[in-house]
Amino acid sequence: MKFVLATRNAHKATELKRILEELDLDCELLTVADFPGAPEVEETETTFEGNALLKARALAKFTGLAAIADDSGICVDALDGNPGVLSARWSGATENVDQANLDLVLEQIKDVPTESRGAKFVCAAVAVFPDGKELVATGEMLGSLLNAPTGENGFGYDPIFVPTGFTKTTAQMTASEKDAISHRGKALNQLAHQISEVISKTL
Ligand code: IMP
Repeated sequence: MKFVLATRNAHKATELKRILEELDLDCELLTVADFPGAPEVEETETTFEGNALLKARALAKFTGLAAIADDSGICVDALDGNPGVLSARWSGATENVDQANLDLVLEQIKDVPTESRGAKFVCAAVAVFPDGKELVATGEMLGSLLNAPTGENGFGYDPIFVPTGFTKTTAQMTASEKDAISHRGKALNQLAHQISEVISKTL
């Protein structure tokens, strides 16, 4: 069975592909980049699940294939759960976006004491099939925020996020270390199991 991944973010596409391939799902993975003219979907919903479904529904309709999408972000306790679904566009910057978003969060929490710097990454991963069937899975990774970026791996807010139970940021982890505990890893793991069930029922 062919699936198309609904993301234009190269880092996320790599993570999604890597995690799904690890899970040994019996399928061929394409990305939105394989479909010139695929619609750009505005993330207008207020929940991760709502936005992921918007992206996957649009792509399933355009391609006629089953589409997988995720929507994710970081929720910072001291910012009342923000930036949340606005994580990718928190600073409003159009260049060096990840860096600008991270700098803004650091500025916003600069006076917050260590014990109140809790945060979590959240991910909703969904699959929408051409017949309209929809699967939804979610994952979270709890942690806390540093006051200066540390580490070169990952993307986005990784350089300031230390997962609970660890002493390094997700930007200091290898890809497989991060996948094993990440919000996206957990959501996709669950989603892959749901997809396997659907595939086995259609065989
Ligand atoms: P979206 O899911 O494409 O709306 O983007 C989510 C945004 O949340 C990304 O651009 C990052 O800023 C942030 N984000 C989501 N997952 C991660 C992660 O695993 N590491 C670092 N930042 C992330």
